[in-house]
Amino acid sequence: MHNAALAAVGLPGWRYLKLPLPPERFAQTVRALPAAGFRGLNVTIPHKQAALALADEATPTAAAVGAANTLTFEASGAILADNTDVAGLLDALAVDPAGLTALVLGAGGAARAAVYALRTAGAADVMVWNRTRQRADRLVAELGGRVVDAPEAAALVVNCTSVGLRETDATFKSLPLRADSLGVGRYVVDMVYRPGGTRLLAEAKQQGAIVVSGLEILVAQGAASFERWTDRAAPRETMRGAVDLNT
Ligand code: NAP
Repeated sequence: MHNAALAAVGLPGWRYLKLPLPPERFAQTVRALPAAGFRGLNVTIPHKQAALALADEATPTAAAVGAANTLTFEASGAILADNTDVAGLLDALAVDPAGLTALVLGAGGAARAAVYALRTAGAADVMVWNRTRQRADRLVAELGGRVVDAPEAAALVVNCTSVGLRETDATFKSLPLRADSLGVGRYVVDMVYRPGGTRLLAEAKQQGAIVVSGLEILVAQGAASFERWTDRAAPRETMRGAVDLNT
């Protein structure tokens, strides 16, 4: 996605590379990257908190969420941490969440970004359900919303668990959702993306909901990171085309 975008905006000398790193070498390796010509990096599980911790500066969003997915090496030598999952979710949403009731499933990194995004965008009531209740309690204590054991129907449902990633049929067994509660008038977002799409979105679409695929969020968070590193407008269609998984 990023390499297609770099070529499309005319930055042929730039490359986006995969760099697998064990946690014990994370900080040391990242600090060495500017001298090797890197402009920044995306980080994913399990490095998002370590990325925030090692940065010299953080955007208010990354600081509030408590995790960073984007690091930028500034000309001053400082490392700036950002969390573009927040902007990515709001950007990809088909609706303004202000005033809407919302249900967030999960309490990991993606859920933290979603709860922060929905609350700052003015969602009326943000319910948080998680398999491990204590983790939801912690999230809500830090970011707001309310923990629910048995979710009520909400206008906006955001799946931030990894359920459905490998075994699509697991979705409705593992999550407190019924397909017929995801119908007309609802917006259903699945952070999970996979070839062939997810069962959650297929069911929601069939019931008449408006659905947003994790792929759209992936593209939107990637576009925000791309713009921070390159100071160029991200070529969204090129990026979306490059990650087409037939979702
Ligand atoms: P994470 O921090 O590891 O959190 C995983 C979450 O899934 C936890 O709430 C966990 O509950 C829950 N979970 C896992 N297995 C479960 C099961 N069998 N039943 C019920 N709940 C289960 O991961 P994350 O960073 O938040 O990512 C979550 C998902 O979002 C991943 O699939 C990731 O690929 C996706 N994601 C997508 C984007 C995007 O751009 N589209 C961005 C970020 C993340 P417990 O607390 O009980 O373990």
